[in-house]
Amino acid sequence: MLNHDCLPNACRFEYLDKPGASNTDIYIRLLHDVPQGSEICVSYFPVNWNYKERRERLVEDYGFECNCERCRVEQTWSDGDGEGDEEEAMEHDQTDGDGVDEEEEMDKDGDGDFPHAMFFVKYLCPEESCGGTMAPLPGNANLMECNVCGRLRSEQEFIDDLEQHGTARHSD
Ligand SMILES: [Zn+2]
Ligand SMILES: [Zn+2]
Repeated sequence: MLNHDCLPNACRFEYLDKPGASNTDIYIRLLHDVPQGSEICVSYFPVNWNYKERRERLVEDYGFECNCERCRVEQTWSDGDGEGDEEEAMEHDQTDGDGVDEEEEMDKDGDGDFPHAMFFVKYLCPEESCGGTMAPLPGNANLMECNVCGRLRSEQEFIDDLEQHGTARHSD
């Protein structure tokens, strides 16, 4: 039994279609190295669900409200949760006359709004509408496997994809 995290560090694999006696085995694989002593968590549903979908499923089917790092960020988004977003939007019509500019607004487009973007680039299956999680194959950390559709992706393919689609922006 594993606890849920909306940014899991592990995911579950099954190979029910494989012939042989071991095809009912369940494998839990780490997505990446984790510090010693960290809890191993999986997501109870596809990792690309939005905050509202996740919250509903967790409350209705599992009886708890998630307070993970990702949920704490996404609960402030207006599109992830229909409640109370309007109240959050503050009007700045009344200035105190010092004419402070709006530079703060300009910075908002950056990764600050979506600090977990890299997680999805790296671990969400690139197959459209799959929603699976990619985890390294045991004994071959350069090859990732999707736990839903079984798609394999090498480290090189991943890097090529990044360069083609410009999804990642490293300062380098
Ligand atoms: Zn969460
Ligand atoms: Zn997949």
